[in-house]
Amino acid sequence: MGKLIEVKNLKKWFWAGSAFGGRKQAVRAVDDVSFSIARREILGLVGESGCGKTTCGKVILRIHEPTSGKIFYDSEDITHIKRKDLIRLKEKMMIIYQDPFGSLDPRMTIGRAIAEPMEVHKTLAKGERRQKVMDLMEKVGLSSDQINRYPHEFSGGQRQRIGIARALATDPEFVVADESVSALDVSIQAQIINLLKDLQEEFGLTMLFIAHDLSVIKHVCDRVAVMYLGKIVETAPKKVLFSDPKHPYTEALLSAIPIPDPKKRKRGQILMGDVPSPINPPPGCRFHTRCPHVMSICKEAEPDMIGLNDSRQVACYLYDK
Ligand code: SF4
Repeated sequence: MGKLIEVKNLKKWFWAGSAFGGRKQAVRAVDDVSFSIARREILGLVGESGCGKTTCGKVILRIHEPTSGKIFYDSEDITHIKRKDLIRLKEKMMIIYQDPFGSLDPRMTIGRAIAEPMEVHKTLAKGERRQKVMDLMEKVGLSSDQINRYPHEFSGGQRQRIGIARALATDPEFVVADESVSALDVSIQAQIINLLKDLQEEFGLTMLFIAHDLSVIKHVCDRVAVMYLGKIVETAPKKVLFSDPKHPYTEALLSAIPIPDPKKRKRGQILMGDVPSPINPPPGCRFHTRCPHVMSICKEAEPDMIGLNDSRQVACYLYDK
C-alpha cells in the first residue's frame, strides 16, 4: 500500500531563553527523524515522556512549524505550503488529545464542540451538521440524546469518545492519537483502544498512535517506531519488535511491561536514570549514558540507522558490521 505520510530528516528545535539575558539555547525536541506511514496503517510512536514524540506528531500536522526537513502528505510536499492550502489539508488531518477536557470549551455543548471542525472547514451545510453529529455520537458509543449536554456532565472515558467524534467530524484520512488513552483507567483504556481500532477499520484511517507505554502500543499498532531524545532508534513490525527487540532501549522499554509469570519475563535491563536534557544531549549515541552495552565508539559518533532487513531498522553499533 502506498505511503500517506512521509517525513525526511525532520527537525524541530525550540529556543529556550536565558533568565540572565544570555544566549538562547536550542531544545532539540525532534532531531533528524525519518519514517513513513502507509495508507490504513497504524504506526506506534513510543518513548518516555519528553522524548519528542508529541512534538513530532504536531509538526506533521503543521501545528508547529518544522525547523528543517521535509513532510509529505500523499506524495505532496507540505513542509511549507501556503495558508489556504494548509486549511484544506487540515481537514484531512486531525488529532485526538490526551486530555479531551482541556481541549473542550466548558461553555459549549458537546453537539457544538463536535460540529465545530465542520464549521471551520465548511465540510457540510449547516442543516446537515446536526444529523452528522448525532451519527458520530452513536458511532463512538455515546447517546445522541446527550447532544445538548456540557463536557462536565461526562466521565473521562466519555469525554475521550467526544474527542474522537470531534476528530472524525471532517472525515479525515490521517489521525494523530496523542497519548489518547494514557489518562484513563485500565478498563476504560481497553474500551477506547477497541473503539479506535474499529473506527480505524471502518473509516480506513491512517494513524500515528503516540504512547509512552509499549503495552498500549501492542494492542493497537501494525508497526512501531521507538523514539529516544529526539531520535528514532528502532522501527519494526509490531510482532517482530515485541518478540525480538534489537535496540537496548527497546529492550529496556519491553522489560518494563509488567508480566505476571516471571519465567516469561523479557530479557533486557530496567531503565536507570532520567532522559538527559534535549538542550544538551549526550554526544555519540544519545542512549549511551544509560546503556548497559556501551562501548567507547558509542560516546564518540552517532550510530546510523541500519536496515537489518526490508522491514526493520536499528541505530546501534551492536548491529553495525
Ligand atoms: Fe548502547 Fe552503543 Fe547501541 Fe547506543 S550504540 S544503544 S550506547 S550499544
